[in-house]
Amino acid sequence: MGLTLAIIKPDAVEGRRVGRILAHLEDEGFGIRAAKFVRLDEAGAAEFYAVHRERPFYEPLKRFMTSGPILALALEREDAVAHLRKVIGATDPAEAEAGTVRALYAENKERNAIHASDSDETAQQELAFFFSKRGLMGAG
Ligand code: ATP
Ligand code: MG
Repeated sequence: MGLTLAIIKPDAVEGRRVGRILAHLEDEGFGIRAAKFVRLDEAGAAEFYAVHRERPFYEPLKRFMTSGPILALALEREDAVAHLRKVIGATDPAEAEAGTVRALYAENKERNAIHASDSDETAQQELAFFFSKRGLMGAG
């Protein structure tokens, strides 16, 4: 079994789509091993998205991700990282496969409802960003 990190983004929390997204993830076989509402500050968003700091969308992305509470999730499943990336769909909901979380619940390419770690290495870093080892005890 593997763990990955998902974030339900401010657009979906504000739009009251959290319950439907969690149900979708559970229906895809993910177990929720930890969950935490967080309001990222500028420094937290900068750290989390450091990999994108040269991108033109970096500043608006930080503004969006600090605009309201987010829900960080530790999700467990066989092949967790790859399966979650498949389940969320393409970054732009207009290009996301029908039935994916972004196709169903995202507004646009930036306000796209959900984040998922993109490799096992990133998943370990991103899980550690939000959750302590103790908080994840029993998972993995
Ligand atoms: P995430 O990392 O959130 O799971 P992703 O891996 O599909 O999404 P990335 O390329 O890592 O996409 O971009 C991170 C986030 O930055 C996107 O989810 C989206 O919110 C925002 N973003 C990416 N590209 C653009 C863009 N061209 N214009 C506006 N926002 C963008
Ligand atoms: Mg990404």
